[in-house]
Amino acid sequence: MDLVEIMSHLSIPRPDHSPALEETAVYIKTTLTDWGIPFVVQEFTLRPYMQLILGIALLALAVLLLVLVIKKRPVAALIVALAIPLLLLAEFEFFVPVVTGIVKKTGQNIVVTYTVANPARELIFAAHYDSKTDFWDHIQRARIYRFIPLAIVLGLAVAVFTFFTRRYAPLKKKGGTIAAGITAGVLVIYWGLVFLGFGGYIFLPADRQSFGAVDNGTSVAALLALAKDIHDGKVSLGNSNVTIVFTAGEEVTLQGAHWYVKERFGASWQPALPTTLVNLELVGQNGPMVYWKKDGVFLKYYDADPELIERLGAAWMRVSETSIEPRESITDDAQRFMAVGIPAITVGNSGTPGLGEGGFHSTKDNFSRVNMDNLALMIHALELYIEGYLTK
Ligand SMILES: [Zn+2]
Repeated sequence: MDLVEIMSHLSIPRPDHSPALEETAVYIKTTLTDWGIPFVVQEFTLRPYMQLILGIALLALAVLLLVLVIKKRPVAALIVALAIPLLLLAEFEFFVPVVTGIVKKTGQNIVVTYTVANPARELIFAAHYDSKTDFWDHIQRARIYRFIPLAIVLGLAVAVFTFFTRRYAPLKKKGGTIAAGITAGVLVIYWGLVFLGFGGYIFLPADRQSFGAVDNGTSVAALLALAKDIHDGKVSLGNSNVTIVFTAGEEVTLQGAHWYVKERFGASWQPALPTTLVNLELVGQNGPMVYWKKDGVFLKYYDADPELIERLGAAWMRVSETSIEPRESITDDAQRFMAVGIPAITVGNSGTPGLGEGGFHSTKDNFSRVNMDNLALMIHALELYIEGYLTK
């Protein structure tokens, strides 16, 4: 098994809307087949332009709000102002496609399962194989997105204000209407910036595409290596079933993991066996193993499981003699498992020295960022983590 050769197939732009996504799925499946490893493909309805369409919808609502405020249509303005937070909630918090299902394709999760004779637990591992490029980096994006609550409140306020500009004489004069119009106009500019954050990638040329080497090619390589080592009998499973899931659609709001969890566990988790998830992100760059304390998308964030922090930390200590480090929060596939009550954690490498958690979803996420020694250490740590259940 040549990890450099494997990484050469996983350091290419493969966004969910591109044919490269399917080509990467074919590569993963072909590799497993060549190694004699059985797998199952779970097909699902993938909405590849999720954020782009949501961004357009939000901007359109903001433009509509401006028109209604200028035309003094308060009821309609209020409905439109309310539609903005409801749309965000439905799509990002409840995973209900309201507008983003207008473009669909077939997505694939690739699932490898190892079962033992007397299982006492199931250990799931996951990594997404899609990539993403963003118009702005995550610091620029965060500067814009932090005003989303304020923009929602201002939108509602300007709609309510429109009731009064109709009714009360002093406000009927131009001043009130102009102030409301300017506020609604600023909101159009603001939601335009959000649109660029969500969907501005569509304007970027081919040479600005992220290679997705560390987000999340290395994680896929690590799980391929893990699958092969288990298949070759190099890892003692004891009484643990092991499931390895390669997901698509993570970068368009966790769609692959959403389908996997929904199909396997339903809305609430009734375990046949105690089940946990170790999700991989940003594996195989410089630095020690890190985990993220919180995982969420929009409003609710879930905690990483304390026992998994301890177990992964112990395994990492054994291979590297360094401690696992906490990071603040992340949005990734583990959130879908946590939401139904499955204990989960996301681990990766810190990226220090280097860009740390920065420079992803851009050309800075390329093969030169990969630390092959660290990738090998991570694979070893995951195997020791599995074997850690032999003793306790
Ligand atoms: Zn990722």
